Amino acid sequence: MSISAQRVVSFEYTLTDDAGRTVDTSRGRAPLSYLHGAGNIVAGLEKALEGQAIGAQLKVTVSPEEGYGLHQPGLIRNVPVRKLPSGKARVGTRVQLQTSSGPHVFVVKSVKGDYAQVDGNHPLAGQTLHFDVEVVDIRDPTAEELAHGHVHGAGGHDH
Ligand code: ZN
Repeated sequence: MSISAQRVVSFEYTLTDDAGRTVDTSRGRAPLSYLHGAGNIVAGLEKALEGQAIGAQLKVTVSPEEGYGLHQPGLIRNVPVRKLPSGKARVGTRVQLQTSSGPHVFVVKSVKGDYAQVDGNHPLAGQTLHFDVEVVDIRDPTAEELAHGHVHGAGGHDH
């Protein structure tokens, strides 16, 4: 069985940045499971995994465009503290704010006086991602997983 749309894939991965620092890894935890073709993982990695088989090991370099997106200066904003939900004007707090394209999650970066600076960029936006991947399992999804568009159980979505 090889990886194609609507198959459940489990893989081990280590993600490093351009400086070679480990950003995230599944090693020592459980493999990550996802539904292939459903956009559950970054586009560049999903594309590279297409057609691979169990046991495949690959190194994948993903551009920001196919990763977590470009860094958007417009997503860094100064907002009045009184516009934030009460108690949320603390550095590191996540807040959902309205934007012209709908609700978006921002992280409070600093608070000065009556204003808070918030950043809606993904922490890995603008970065080239380096994945070291090993495919450990491929299976067909359950009807429920297909209906939900994500994987349930070990390594998958937990509701
Ligand atoms: Zn579900």
